[in-house]
Amino acid sequence: MAGTALLGRLTWQLADVVDIVAETPSVKTIAFDVPGWRGHRAGQHVDVRLTAEDGYQAERSYSIGSAPDSSRVELTVERLGDGEVSPYLTEELRTGDQIELRGPVGGYFVWEPSQYEPVLLVGGGSGIVPLMAMARHHAATGSDVDMRLLYSSRGWDEIIYRDELERLSANGVTLVHTLTRSRPPGWAGYARRVDAELLAEVGPSPSERPTIYVCGPTPFVEAVAQALVHLGHEPERVRTERFGPTGG
Ligand SMILES: Cc1cc2nc3c(=O)[nH]c(=O)nc-3n(C[C@H](O)[C@H](O)[C@H](O)COP(=O)(O)OP(=O)(O)OC[C@H]3O[C@@H](n4cnc5c(N)ncnc54)[C@H](O)[C@@H]3O)c2cc1C
Repeated sequence: MAGTALLGRLTWQLADVVDIVAETPSVKTIAFDVPGWRGHRAGQHVDVRLTAEDGYQAERSYSIGSAPDSSRVELTVERLGDGEVSPYLTEELRTGDQIELRGPVGGYFVWEPSQYEPVLLVGGGSGIVPLMAMARHHAATGSDVDMRLLYSSRGWDEIIYRDELERLSANGVTLVHTLTRSRPPGWAGYARRVDAELLAEVGPSPSERPTIYVCGPTPFVEAVAQALVHLGHEPERVRTERFGPTGG
């Protein structure tokens, strides 16, 4: 029954940590085995709940980076120095541990291969995570939809999923990096924050009526969404996910 299924999805459940991979000096991917997981859509997130010995609880949301086609649920977490939850997930958690998850959550910031229109993904920092689920799903389903990914990172070493992104770009997803703070020697790519001109160069144009997914720190998402509307993209075709109050 639909009601039972909904309730089931929203119940806290224990997930087993089966793998942890360092993506950058401050970002880790944590893979979970979630018994009875019913699957997710590309772009959805889960809620994570931590409980201290004294009963104090903290909850945060994390996008699912793995594609729906994957049997594992992978979260990619950036450690914020003064954070409550992200330092625990990235520094303390070990393979074999269990934590509580609830989800999948969200039905608006999702991409389905049945969408035939061109897609532009615009990510800043860890905002790449739900976009990666979409790009992976695009590859796994052999989609021939025009999918472009514009990814803003501070520096080369801070590009999350860097090698896999290169492989995806050889496999049908157009990949454009911009590096806002530091560049490796000989860098010939973009070297500034995402602005209207850059978005126009990467395309697709508003006349192609792409669906656009923008994810990252709040100021990044707001600046990019404004620039897209300024370029003539229909506001209802610009879907946004804000990760936090600061950053950039
Ligand atoms: C739908 C959704 C999906 C998310 N997916 C991811 C994800 O895939 N990976 C990921 O790393 N994070 C993701 N986040 C952010 C995540 O939920 C937490 O906000 C983040 O990990 C910080 O939690 P914390 O407890 O470590 O920091 P807190 O103790 O909450 O905050 C510490 C300090 O950092 C600031 N801050 C909080 N969040 C951010 C942020 N995102 N960027 C910069 N500064 C911040 C706070 O204002 C505060 O000053 C997502 C958020 C949402 C709403």
